[in-house]
This record gives sequence, structure tokens and C-alpha cells, in this order.
Amino acid sequence: MGLFVYKFGGTSVGTVERIQAVAEKVKAAHESGDQIVVVVSAMSGETNRLTDLAKEMQKTPVAREMDVLLSTGEQVTMSLLCMALTNLGCSAQSYTGGQVRIVTDSSHTKARIKRIDDKKIHADLSAGKVVVVAGFQGMDEEGSITTLGRGGSDTTAVALAAALKADECHIYTDVDGVYTTDPRVEPNARRLESITFEEMLEMASLGSKILQIRSVEFAGKYNVALRVLSSFSEGRGTLITYEESAVEQALISGIAFNRDEAKLTITGVPDIPGAAFKILGPIADANIEIDMIIQNVADDATTDFTFTVHRNDLESAKAILTATSESLGAKSVTTDEKTVKVSIVGVGMRSHAGIASKMFEVFADENINIQMISTSEIKISVVIDEKYLELAVRALHAAFELDKDPAT
Ligand code: ASP
Ligand code: MG
Repeated sequence: MGLFVYKFGGTSVGTVERIQAVAEKVKAAHESGDQIVVVVSAMSGETNRLTDLAKEMQKTPVAREMDVLLSTGEQVTMSLLCMALTNLGCSAQSYTGGQVRIVTDSSHTKARIKRIDDKKIHADLSAGKVVVVAGFQGMDEEGSITTLGRGGSDTTAVALAAALKADECHIYTDVDGVYTTDPRVEPNARRLESITFEEMLEMASLGSKILQIRSVEFAGKYNVALRVLSSFSEGRGTLITYEESAVEQALISGIAFNRDEAKLTITGVPDIPGAAFKILGPIADANIEIDMIIQNVADDATTDFTFTVHRNDLESAKAILTATSESLGAKSVTTDEKTVKVSIVGVGMRSHAGIASKMFEVFADENINIQMISTSEIKISVVIDEKYLELAVRALHAAFELDKDPAT
């Protein structure tokens, strides 16, 4: 017997039938004697539908009102789930984020949780009830509704698990765990028994969309045992855990990729102090996120400077860079949006030399040109032409033998 937080994503609650299936699952766990808190997302497509409605009303919707609107999606699901549970004879009660005092800062549409009052939930659990909480939302100190950013229900679940000192936080989704890479690209991809927080964080920020990045950060910080499982099939899923307790000891745990990368290059930049700031400052001021950056060694007192941004930001970044190029007296600005980023991730890299060269050997053998490289302690990323993405992922998967279970 224990206390568990179960989170069900949009597809898991996408129809009335699916909500009924979730209720069955929750009821079974509750009847086995566990205390269950359920966090729900909006029914699939609902948050997008609401966002589109807002955009029809206002080009840039007022952030506070956007949160009022978006928070309704989760409210629909939580009440329907409680009705389904009641039908099954399981006593359940639903709460919005504000009602269970999930207090956040006031950054509408991307608020951060400050604290949670666990008293009410504990009281309900002790009274034998299932508690259902709307994901993705909270309330600021003034009582305004806030939301936690897209995918924020994961963070609600982890934060509740931390506050309630739950035994485990289960994230039920449409995949049955975290895979070595996307099985749609590499059919030999293998479900991982476990992965470390750090690796999961890298995977999430490098393009794997299974968990909201912030929820993984939160789980790592507050020591929440986090498990990703399928709501449609049985199985143990993947446990996200600390390095010491990781079951598998592979060199590389996974391959992530991101198809949204676009590359900008400014050539003939005067090699003087402050040039990088003059180039990237205006981009950052326009709220455009910069991913990889490369500056070459200067040749004849000028240098080339390349960086990547999200494809959606390419046009605005190009306009800014073209203006900068003129004011700096640089030579030219070129862009390429047919690029992708492929990364290998693994804590095993820390203790093993030669992983980078093995990765580059794969690209050499496949005759794939590497345009940019960046590394951190536990990951190596390269930017390549988008037409080689599938080939690169499959070749790396084979070379690092990710289809084989290292524990056996
Ligand atoms: N409904 C929100 C979204 O679609 C939050 C979530 O599902 O986690 O992003
Ligand atoms: Mg999600």
C-alpha cells in the first residue's frame, strides 16, 4: 500500500470511453489499497482548439485571459473522470489547481509553482476518496488563474507527488515508456528499463516530447520517483532515476533529434571584441532562442559566425541579422532551414573516451556531412542536412548497439 500520483495525458482521456477506461484503472488501484491522486490533461486537441479560438479574437491574446480560457480544458476532464469513478462506486472529488492551492508566480502562460498546500488532499485521501486534480494550472498570490506552459500537467503531477511525498509518480501516456530513440524512425528502438534524470532532461530538451522538461527538473530536484507508462497496455514502463540506482549501464542511452533547427551564418565579421554580442544581442532582445553557436578562428582579421534557431523564428532572425551585418560591415548573411540536429545522450560518456570519434566514424561511413558540433558532459549533438536524419539515427542506433539490452 502506498500513495501514488497518476497523470493521464490528452490522448488517454481523449474520449468518454477512454475516460471510463482510466476510471477502471484508477478504481482497481484504489481497491488494492493504494491512495491515488489523479492529475488530468485536457482531452486531446482541446488546448489547441482553445488557443485557436483566442487567436481569432486577438492576434496576441491578453495573457491573463488566455490562462482563464486554457484552464477550462482540464476542468472538463476532471469532472467527467469523477463522474465515471462515481459510476463505478468509487468515491472521488475533483479540484482545480487554485482549489488545492497550487500557488504560482504571476507569469501567465508559463507560471512556476511556488508552493502547494497538501492538507486538503491528505484529508480526502484519509477519508478514502480518490482525488482528481486539474493539471497545467495554478493560482497566483492575487487569486488569478495561471497555467504552467504547454505540457504542464506533467509538472503538476510531479509537484503534487513531491508535496504529498508520494511513493511514485506515474505518467500515463500513449507510449509504453522511454525508448532508445523514436520507434517511428528506428523500428529496432528498445524501451529502456530506466534512465537517469540527467539523461531524460537532455532527451527532453533535445527534442524528445515525452515529458515536459520542467517536470523532469522538478522530479530530479525533489527526488520524485517518476515512471512513464502506457495507459493502453500493461507493463512497467520506464523508471527515471538517479545514476547510482540505474539498472542499465550503457555507454549511450538514447538518440534524440530535432527537425525544427534552422541555421544562420554571417560571414566576414570584423574580429574585434564585442562582435558576438552585437550579433546575438538583438536576436535575444527579440525573444528568439538561440541553440547552437559556432565562431571560427579569425582569418585575415575577419571571422564567420554561425548559429541555429527554431525554424519558426528563421525569418525574423534573418531580418535582424541582415541589419546587424550592415551596421558591422560584415560580408554576407546566409540561411539554411533544411537542417536537423541529431544527438546521442548517455551518462556513460563521462567515463568512456572515444564516444565522439565513434559517432563521427558513423557519419564518415555513411558519407553524411557534419555542419556543426556541440558537446556537453553527457551528450554530443551534430547539425546535418535534414535528408540524412533517418539514416543517421538508424546508423547510430546500430553502431552503439542500442537494440541490445546491456543488462543481459
Ligand atoms: N493541456 C495542456 C497542453 O496541451 C497541458 C498538458 O496537457 O499537459 O499543453
Ligand atoms: Mg503531454
